[in-house]
Amino acid sequence: MLSRKEITEILLCKEPELISDLHKRALYLKLNTIGPKVYLRGLIEISNICRKNCLYCGIRSGNTLCERYTLTDEEILLCAEHAYAAGYGSVTIQGGERTDPKFTDRITSLVRRVKLIGNGALGITLSLGEQSAEVYKEWFDAGAHRYLLRIEASDPDLFRKIHPDDGHHSYDRRIKALMDLKSIGYQTGSGVMIGLPWQNAEDLASDLFFMKEMDFPMIGMGPYVPHDDTPITIRAASDPEITFPSVTDRLDLSLKMISLLRILVPDINIAASTALEALHPKGRIMAINAGANIVMPNVTPADYRKNYNLYDRKAILLEDLNLGEVEIGFGEWGDSLHFKKV
Ligand code: SAH
Ligand code: SF4
Repeated sequence: MLSRKEITEILLCKEPELISDLHKRALYLKLNTIGPKVYLRGLIEISNICRKNCLYCGIRSGNTLCERYTLTDEEILLCAEHAYAAGYGSVTIQGGERTDPKFTDRITSLVRRVKLIGNGALGITLSLGEQSAEVYKEWFDAGAHRYLLRIEASDPDLFRKIHPDDGHHSYDRRIKALMDLKSIGYQTGSGVMIGLPWQNAEDLASDLFFMKEMDFPMIGMGPYVPHDDTPITIRAASDPEITFPSVTDRLDLSLKMISLLRILVPDINIAASTALEALHPKGRIMAINAGANIVMPNVTPADYRKNYNLYDRKAILLEDLNLGEVEIGFGEWGDSLHFKKV
């Protein structure tokens, strides 16, 4: 097993040959453990209305420059039907966090309706933030079977630095939500942002051990991509103390993190995060070659997509899923082998 010290050294290493060997080792392990297929989750960004105010996120409630939207039930179902028709085995329903009963009830009914498409053919992943255990259970009973909730930063101090201290952003509550999801029976996915201000190689090594020890069957981690209208970016413009790695370094770090995680836990599902594509047009294929096995093609209508700016993603508004020679698991759920074993 790789030690914390070795992992930190690899994260700091700038030798192209050693980095390429790392990716090859992870790819080899993936092919031999879970096989060559990449599974798709059609991503439906249902709304950019959020009650939270994360200091890095473009759709945070405090951003008055963000034009808000919510898809109708019919639009969401149409997206899911498109995903089904395109042979995507699953959909991911993602959006800003809302906890009012009008919203949570609506999600329950939507999950039931998506389940009717193709007679239960589509796997459903939800990514709708922190909710009560009762709400998570209700959505699970309605037919959702996977949930994505990143810890964002596994170090409580770093978590505190990137979230406002307003009573709505608690590390402990996030951990509790993750535990609730697991005990209800969801395939629970988490992850972190890579290349954040105040984050160093030791923090990233700790993130990897956190993800392993929490035994998550799926992980989605991706680079931090600054958004102009967020407190972190605004403060960084006048505070020389707030720095973060260059585009190239964030890309390299993200790919290394994927490979290292694949080596630490070979049989989990690891997403090639969409944010990678904001850094490099081939970001996701690079991630697949570094050990990732999940891609989330965006199926949100283009008119709305331009307003779901978690980060600056001008580069990927015209998304072209160019996966080249990769073998795709069309029509398959592609559940985590790790979860099946537990
Ligand atoms: N509101 C839900 C789901 C939508 S946000 C939630 O927070 O879980 C989905 C993910 O987008 C977050 O987990 C966060 O890691 C990521 N994100 C937000 N702003 C980002 C940024 N500036 N750069 C990279 N990722 C970002
Ligand atoms: Fe809301 Fe998620 Fe953005 Fe935080 S990261 S502000 S919870 S959409």
